[in-house]
Amino acid sequence: MGVDLGGTKMIGAVVKDGEVVSRCKNPTDPGEGPDAVFDRITATIEKAIAKADVLKEDISCICLAVPGPLDRDMGIMAYTPNLGFVNFPMKAKLENALGIPVFLENDVNAGTYGEYKCGAAKGFRHIIALFPGTGIGGGIILDGRLYRGASGNAGELGHMIIQTGGALCGCGQYGCLEALASRTALSKDAVAAASAGKAPSVFERSGSDFSQYKSRVFADAYEADEGVIRRMIHKNAYYLGIGMANCVNIFNPEVIVLGGGLVEKLGEEYIRRAEKSMRKHALDTLVKDVTVVEAELGDDAVIRGAAYILLDNME
Ligand SMILES: [Zn+2]
Repeated sequence: MGVDLGGTKMIGAVVKDGEVVSRCKNPTDPGEGPDAVFDRITATIEKAIAKADVLKEDISCICLAVPGPLDRDMGIMAYTPNLGFVNFPMKAKLENALGIPVFLENDVNAGTYGEYKCGAAKGFRHIIALFPGTGIGGGIILDGRLYRGASGNAGELGHMIIQTGGALCGCGQYGCLEALASRTALSKDAVAAASAGKAPSVFERSGSDFSQYKSRVFADAYEADEGVIRRMIHKNAYYLGIGMANCVNIFNPEVIVLGGGLVEKLGEEYIRRAEKSMRKHALDTLVKDVTVVEAELGDDAVIRGAAYILLDNME
């Protein structure tokens, strides 16, 4: 089974030979506290198993993909305060409740692996994935293997600093890629501009409520040729391209996969702008053979990637 635990929803899927047999989706509702979220995870898993018309004993193992840092060996979610999990022994508790072996994986790693095995990066062996959203998730596959680093937490590509003294990042540093090129960064700038009367159509739709500045709003404003917002999106893509260029220079990838809601909604032109900035900023010898593609699997990337991580490491 692959399970995707997100901030707003969770999906559990029974996967056989890489194909999804059944799935169950539930809201995460982290406001109800970690115990309630945990109970919902077990219920989601049990429901997906029932829907697949198999027995618990038929499930060989579960890979739970989680946001935030984790201790993979111990199966502990170290610090995911927005879901209420701090030093939470997820693996032990789930195994106790279900009687099935459980492994934890970082959700972006799982999504990257899914795109590698059956999505946009299929057939490549050196892959960088970037998913701009609330933050910017990053995944690294080198020579066909997920690169996890010394403690299992490699791939924090969103926190590479690309503008010293730049915008404040959620991590406490200034000028991180995600402080400049995430949807959150875009939303902050857009709320300020709209509230100052510089983007009337956006203000009319979303007011000064930050939570209403979603990817769809940006895509519509872009299409409607709202000048200020267009320039912000161009700047956002430009910075994303600088982050991509740094990845090219460090990892020498064959392909860069861009995914997440913002990329999905803004589409091809946004991707090509980021690519142009990447080519401008990276070393010529490394960047000339790099392909930039859009992620293909959407919601399925994490569950399928999680299952493939198990399949490829069955022993
Ligand atoms: Zn940061």
